Amino acid sequence: MDLKDLASLKLGPLEPLVARIYRYAKRFPAVRERLEAEYAPIMDELRKSAKPYAEKTESYAALPLEGVRRNDVLAELRTLDEQESARWQDGYVSGAVYHGDPEHIAFLNEAYAITSQTNPLHSDLWPSIAKYEAEIVSMTANMLGAGRATGASVCGTVASGGTESILLAMRSYRDRARETKGITSPELVVPTTAHAAFDKAAQYFGIELVKVPVGPDFRADVAATKKAITKNTICVVGSAVSFPHGVVDPIEELSELARKRGIGFHTDACLGGFILPWAEKLGYEIPPFDFRLPGVTSMSADTHKYGYAAKGTSVVLYRNYDLRHYQYYKVADWPGGLYFSPTFAGSRPGALSAACWAAMVSIGENGYMDATRKILETGAKIRAGIESIPELRVLGDPLWVIAMGSDQLDIYRVLDFMTKRSWNLNGLHKPASVHIAVTLRHTEHGVAERFLDDLRAAVEHTKTQPAEEGGMAPVYGMASTVPVKGLVTDLLERYLDVLYEV
Ligand SMILES: *Cc1c(COP(=O)(O)O)cnc(C)c1O
Repeated sequence: MDLKDLASLKLGPLEPLVARIYRYAKRFPAVRERLEAEYAPIMDELRKSAKPYAEKTESYAALPLEGVRRNDVLAELRTLDEQESARWQDGYVSGAVYHGDPEHIAFLNEAYAITSQTNPLHSDLWPSIAKYEAEIVSMTANMLGAGRATGASVCGTVASGGTESILLAMRSYRDRARETKGITSPELVVPTTAHAAFDKAAQYFGIELVKVPVGPDFRADVAATKKAITKNTICVVGSAVSFPHGVVDPIEELSELARKRGIGFHTDACLGGFILPWAEKLGYEIPPFDFRLPGVTSMSADTHKYGYAAKGTSVVLYRNYDLRHYQYYKVADWPGGLYFSPTFAGSRPGALSAACWAAMVSIGENGYMDATRKILETGAKIRAGIESIPELRVLGDPLWVIAMGSDQLDIYRVLDFMTKRSWNLNGLHKPASVHIAVTLRHTEHGVAERFLDDLRAAVEHTKTQPAEEGGMAPVYGMASTVPVKGLVTDLLERYLDVLYEV
């Protein structure tokens, strides 16, 4: 039996048992050897794409004895960067680089360069960074309804990204529930479409993750969520918008469920936080999702996505100071001195906060409004274009993160064809689909049209040509059909190992 045979197995309720047997069997060298042989061809394929410079540049497995001349180092950085930047600059990439205008980038780089030696861990040395971070949090909170939230004193911190914002908030809920309610087996209720960061938080912090299937519109199911809440629930989660399908969960109804039970509710606005408030101002019908709802007790919003800051910042917000205090780390009896830090890291790059602040104050409300208008107009154009292709169907009711599937074609082959035409889109599964997160790059002249032209060609090709070898279609096909999740996660583990090969 090989991996392809496995893909056709239907285990159903036996899956947990088979998964255990698999984990057990892996301890035996003969089984592991056999598995490695099965993985080998897939790993070769992945290695080729992950290590394109293997033969073309010098590799440093150990420090060079003599330092390489700075000019040569910079030349090398430039050479490699040139190979990689055209794709996002020309608008071929879903998400990833959300602004990308050369003048904006040069401005952020200058802000970084001015402050590159700062570290907010030493708040006494660099009070300027504390000022920037306080203002980033305050500007984000006010954008997300803090000023109009009754009985709230919305506060927060800057984090290194959406994942850290989410990890921090979930850990705060866990610790508060343990202290104030004595909950020692905490549970977190999330829709299946919630970001993987909640899964990560559950794994890291010993929280049981209760995943609730979404409705046919890909939004969280309120009735099913209500049933999933128990006396051990520490927090309920909704997304605005969800990463896979770009839809807004019914935050009002979900947060009311939580409020009535006296538990936390987190709106994950990592993706939508810097678009939805402006969309609402532009007259789009946006259901309420922020602190204006009394049940929303925390939020995450990514400045390094549609806030147009450089990568490495996000904001986690709390409805009141009490929850934020659970996030802080402080220790009084360490021989190294009095030590305290707001997030997981110790030393942090103050320059990223300075650059984030620079992005926000230089763009301003009107700048964000203009950007949002362009993105939503392009999103509507792309959505209409997809809807005009009979073989494809748009999932849910999205504005600018647009997922498509097909009842007739293997959507992963469509994805592979798009990849051959330079596109970098996101493969999704459960159900099999592909999305594009529209950024300012796609609002440039002719980009949306080129996307739709290529998409029509991809559908035509997939319809009329036999499947080719290689590409991601078999991997995604396998991930969605192989009944033993351990097999697929083992592959991911090996892929990470490959990334660290010199
Ligand atoms: C991107 C994203 C995250 C995680 O953010 P990172 O910055 O990648 O850590 C969480 N939730 C949603 C909805 C996102 O789109």
